[in-house]
Amino acid sequence: MNGGVRRDFAVFFWLLAADVLNGPGGVTLEAGDLYFASRLTARQKKRQLVKLNLRVPADVQYVQSMESSGRMPDVIVVGGGVVGLSIAWELVCHGASVKVIDQRTVGREASWAGAGMLPPGRLTGETSGEGRLRALSCELWPDWTQALRDATGIDNGYQKCGAIEVSFERSLKSESETWAAAGNDVEFLTDERRRHYEPAISDSVKEAYRLRDFGQVRNPRHLKALVTACADSGVEFLEGAPVCGWQTASGRVTHVRTSGGQFAARQFVIASGAWSSQLTREAGAEINVRPMRGQIILLRCPSLPFRHVIQDRSRYLVPRADGRILIGSTEEDVGFVKQNTVNGVQSLLQFAVSIVPALASAEIERTWSGLRPFSGREEPFITRLSNHENLYVAAGHFRSGLQMSPGTAVLVRQMLQGHDPAIPLQPYGLVPAADDENSSTNDRLVTAQTQQQ
Ligand SMILES: Cc1cc2nc3c(=O)[nH]c(=O)nc-3n(C[C@H](O)[C@H](O)[C@H](O)COP(=O)(O)OP(=O)(O)OC[C@H]3O[C@@H](n4cnc5c(N)ncnc54)[C@H](O)[C@@H]3O)c2cc1C
Repeated sequence: MNGGVRRDFAVFFWLLAADVLNGPGGVTLEAGDLYFASRLTARQKKRQLVKLNLRVPADVQYVQSMESSGRMPDVIVVGGGVVGLSIAWELVCHGASVKVIDQRTVGREASWAGAGMLPPGRLTGETSGEGRLRALSCELWPDWTQALRDATGIDNGYQKCGAIEVSFERSLKSESETWAAAGNDVEFLTDERRRHYEPAISDSVKEAYRLRDFGQVRNPRHLKALVTACADSGVEFLEGAPVCGWQTASGRVTHVRTSGGQFAARQFVIASGAWSSQLTREAGAEINVRPMRGQIILLRCPSLPFRHVIQDRSRYLVPRADGRILIGSTEEDVGFVKQNTVNGVQSLLQFAVSIVPALASAEIERTWSGLRPFSGREEPFITRLSNHENLYVAAGHFRSGLQMSPGTAVLVRQMLQGHDPAIPLQPYGLVPAADDENSSTNDRLVTAQTQQQ
């Protein structure tokens, strides 16, 4: 037995003794205790802590959590937004070694900027690709929240707050019936019922319905939980390293090329949000994903005037438990330009006050904008690129990337590990363009069969 292994056993028995002395409720470790255990890998520490029911203080960082082993990982994920991080977490939980490469800092682009709304869905009632992925993700959110909390101690703020869709002029009857037909809990609201749920909503509203199971998550906290859980599980992060191309041989990608060198892996996933087209093009495949800017205003109120998410088509108000309210959002086709504009901010403020007049006296805390990955279709791309055996893409989630991130991660993991997909993959493949049905390059067409390999 060498010195390192002896010390590992010593740490293990120390942890065990601490548990016995402190009873079945577990003990809380101090930061220094974890440094004492620093010879263990992050994964070993996590396993032992979970097994021994030890509570870890939220401010304690696991030592060496991002240790660089120099090993070739099973999978390199390009892009550390919510999609890439969720894929990394799902893969590492299923035994793969993973490296995440990001051109900037992980978790700071669209996924940070988003409002964190999580529309409901039921797998039994959904028939479209968009609906099935939404429903699959909806089922996964509670478990993912719990697993991330168990692993990191971070509460991502997931909750089912419900949503009320309102309109000033259009009829909402058929829209609410569509939700109901898919098995969702929806209530068409009389004025009296609307006032019962949310008296702060303006009486000028013509129609309204309520989706009881509509949820929300504090996306910056969710991203922090994902990064922490991934790092603690041995995922390696390389930040500030734009991927610029691929090294290939015999129909396989062998390396990803970055400004800081090239890195080998067995499989590669492009999860680069609005930037994904550039990377698929480098691999000889066209997907149409481009940025669509969304602006957000954050208000602060002494007390929340409403509890539901309130929506009017693409614009919405999202109440946070700490008294803040998000007003979103614009849809602007302006390229990779992230900024707030007078027009954008003005129209959002007008919208907010028209729905909830009491917001006129709220304090404006800050504004920001983000670049949604827009694909021009209902479903994102979740598929293998047919010209490379081991190159996959998960991108183009547009307005639903947070909501759909757990389902996307599960599907990608199933594709990479050759397992049957939880839902049919066909809708998330590349489709032939109308004028290019017989394209011989085949890069635009991936059949259901090849996707399910
Ligand atoms: C204002 C706004 C409101 C939104 N509200 C919601 C909502 O309520 N609910 C919901 O579900 N969704 C919402 N969305 C959409 C959601 O945020 C996106 O669909 C989702 O974040 C996309 O995640 P992603 O990981 O694909 O992209 P991103 O979060 O943009 O991450 C992509 C990552 O890839 C990296 N990258 C790019 N190119 C390269 C490269 N060449 N090399 C290395 N790294 C690279 C980037 O640096 C980035 O970190 C909203 C979006 C916005 C902007």
